[in-house]
Amino acid sequence: MLKLDAHPTGRHFLQIPGPSPVPDRILRAMSLPTIDHRGPEFGVLGRKVISGIREIFQTRHPVVIYPASGTGAWEAALANTLSPGDHVLMFETGHFASLWAKMATRLGLSTEFLSWQGTDEVLPNAPGWRRGVQADQIAQRLREDREHRIKAVCVVHNETSTGVTSDIAAVRGAIDEAKHPALLMVDSISGLASAEFRHDEWGVDVTVSGSQKGLMLPPGISFNALSPRALDASKTAKLPRAFWAWDEIVEMNATGYWPYTPNTNLLYGLSEALDMIQAEGLPKVFARHQRWAAGVRAAVNAWGLPIQCADPAVYSPVLTGVILPDGMDADAVRKLIYERFDLSLGTGLGKLKGRMFRIGHLGDSNDLTLLATVAGCEMGLKLAGIKLQSSGIQAAMDHFSQHPAPALTA
Ligand SMILES: *Cc1c(COP(=O)(O)O)cnc(C)c1O
Repeated sequence: MLKLDAHPTGRHFLQIPGPSPVPDRILRAMSLPTIDHRGPEFGVLGRKVISGIREIFQTRHPVVIYPASGTGAWEAALANTLSPGDHVLMFETGHFASLWAKMATRLGLSTEFLSWQGTDEVLPNAPGWRRGVQADQIAQRLREDREHRIKAVCVVHNETSTGVTSDIAAVRGAIDEAKHPALLMVDSISGLASAEFRHDEWGVDVTVSGSQKGLMLPPGISFNALSPRALDASKTAKLPRAFWAWDEIVEMNATGYWPYTPNTNLLYGLSEALDMIQAEGLPKVFARHQRWAAGVRAAVNAWGLPIQCADPAVYSPVLTGVILPDGMDADAVRKLIYERFDLSLGTGLGKLKGRMFRIGHLGDSNDLTLLATVAGCEMGLKLAGIKLQSSGIQAAMDHFSQHPAPALTA
């Protein structure tokens, strides 16, 4: 029987692409006593996180914080802006894009799901799950829509099931080029605070995000970053909403409070995460993830295994998907690595089940924890009988040695 605390010494390696490892500083901040959510002290915390989170989204407009998982914030984005039967255009980049599309259909929207039209030798059943959003396909579909039936374009920024980061500015460009009034909604649940994201500059109307990925918090809070156009749309949108409704939350947030009991201790954690990210600076945070990702990809390339993302222009800085040789069960390899080395890797989701695993390089990590992660993978792959071309550990060490991070003492 597996005990609840099965990690007697050292630490468990949580290298899934979310929840990510939480820094001790954040865990300590969350252990403060729970306070009155209507009291004066709470207002200080509320105002700090409500204004601070805008900097992370790079927006001047309201960001709504929900005590919910990312899935809740997906629903909030659709329910606040759209009406029953509205037509929405989505793009199949992977499992999370598929789940959001399924949700849109369940909410009573008419969902059109575009997908990449090419073939792929390595993964013939899921060619589009190795590539990013194709903005030209969106542009063409919008140009055809002369009556403006399409009310929203919804895409995933960092597709966590595959390790592909799509070009959101290009999607905005496609909508503008077609002179189409559709809203642009983006899931950056795993992209925020790990991959470059600019809500205002990229003209995003609603950005959906969550706590347990780049923000390095435990799961439990999620976000909708808004635009003035999204707020306008919410005034006439007819999908039913109550708990998710932006109006009352945005109104009460002006003073640092919520219409219901917010997730107090996670907000302490958010406050600490904002301090950490602001002290480092967003450009350094993004560069750090890019550097880690390049080191992990160097390892996968050395092994001679295909990376899930087939287009180097859209490699994710957040996670790397590793495709196993045909006939190998990736989940059996993951289980072996977990049992032998106390290392958790991300499972293959949806169409990728059993074909690949995912290495998360986000949250409370550094060069040496990532080298240990690569070592755990390499030992497990060999134990599973997979022939590797060369040492991924050596390749990752070489990468990290030859590409120094900014010095700790600088
Ligand atoms: C994690 C994730 C989700 C789901 O978030 P939950 O908190 O599990 O509801 C959705 N989309 C993407 C891109 C994600 O990474």
